[in-house]
Amino acid sequence: MTEAPPLPVAALPTALVCTGCGGRLADDAALALACPAARPGDDIDHVLVRVLDPAGGPFSEDADSPNPYVRWRRRFHAYHRARAAGWSDADYVALVERLDAAVARADHRADGRGFRITPFARSAPLSDTLGFSPAGGVWVKDETGNVSGSHKARHLFGTLLELAVEDARRDAAGFPSEGREPAPLAIASCGNAALAAAVVARAAGRQLDVFIPPDADPVVVERLRALGAACAVCEREPGASGDPTYHALLRAIDAGAIPFTCQGNLNGLAIEGGETLGWELAAAVGTPGGPTRLDRVVVQVGGGALLSSVLAGLTYGGVAPPRIHALQPAAVHPLARACERVRARVAAGETTDDVLADATRHRSAYMWPWEQEPHSVAHGIVDDETYDWRACVGGMLASGGGPLIASEATLEEANALARATTGIDVDHTGSSGLAGLLGLVRIRAIHPDENVAVLFTGAVRRPPTPAPGDVHATSGAI
Ligand SMILES: [Zn+2]
Repeated sequence: MTEAPPLPVAALPTALVCTGCGGRLADDAALALACPAARPGDDIDHVLVRVLDPAGGPFSEDADSPNPYVRWRRRFHAYHRARAAGWSDADYVALVERLDAAVARADHRADGRGFRITPFARSAPLSDTLGFSPAGGVWVKDETGNVSGSHKARHLFGTLLELAVEDARRDAAGFPSEGREPAPLAIASCGNAALAAAVVARAAGRQLDVFIPPDADPVVVERLRALGAACAVCEREPGASGDPTYHALLRAIDAGAIPFTCQGNLNGLAIEGGETLGWELAAAVGTPGGPTRLDRVVVQVGGGALLSSVLAGLTYGGVAPPRIHALQPAAVHPLARACERVRARVAAGETTDDVLADATRHRSAYMWPWEQEPHSVAHGIVDDETYDWRACVGGMLASGGGPLIASEATLEEANALARATTGIDVDHTGSSGLAGLLGLVRIRAIHPDENVAVLFTGAVRRPPTPAPGDVHATSGAI
């Protein structure tokens, strides 16, 4: 970066648009992560999304870069805002690489690199066990070795790039920053999203407030605190519906915190960062070692950002669209419930597009908090609501796919099968998409020649192994 750049005046090839109210942020406006027109109780399904100019643009990739944020940088809104403000391409790459190296240090990565394109391979033992032919099979996208041990940091690193460019633009435009503390980042999570947020926030030197439930895993809480995050425990209030950590997050955002979350309605840019996963899937199709085509993708859904990101990523990925399935636990499946409501109206004669258009202004008729406090062995996808539900339902129905529900027994079975056949140290949430595939195989809904992708999204969390000296220190304290 050199001297003070002008604010952009020409139209950018990317834009932030609300799919609920239709609002579009002006190219030279301050960055927003959520729709500025959203008002409490308006029942409009505001979700801010980054769109690419359909007329085309400089969205080309650098196919030889192993870092997805460098390879596909021209699809990021931050890239085009930076270029419009006078940055060179090399300036932007330098920003990504500097923050990526900081992520690697925060995550204790020995290779000095944070994000790399993750493995995507056909598992022969898993494919054989499920009865696939050599022409088809189960393809596993392994996110367990990604930053912080899950896919979650993808969403948040994309957001961080947007915030970093915005801060640089403000500084260059002469906004006073001296003596002004940057707003804290905030998230409601007790698992992989919080851990990913803590790594990415620490890499950027930003404060992170994490709202957690009383039963949060002590291993996770200890790691969050070690990363410098401030954890606030939120009790569930009798009679109150919805997730109390989510309500606390909303209060923090009202007080000025930045939603550093993986929930698309609060942080639409989380979807942009997560699209890297869809781009990686699409880029593998037709390559040596990759599938010749993808027939289906089964994605586990909690808040919906992962599925929404994969859908958007595949849209821009240039491959024939696979059928998309969302897997939720039987214990909590608000997305499947919403999808059934849409399907009922379609069966009565309306078009899917008309129903989803109606849903933009009557959100509560389709999506509301799950009534019972949910518990599942797949604890990472027990969200009360699927925040990105409309994009998920629209994408699934357009693809010829649909929602799937798995019992606790099937979630357990899928995890045991995943671990035994692939050797990947995946946890129950991470393997839950496979539970959906098990269900499809059982009802013979899959042809043996199909190529099906599942996403192993998170690794098992274990307490850190004590150093040899620590054992003696504790055993001698009698
Ligand atoms: Zn809106």
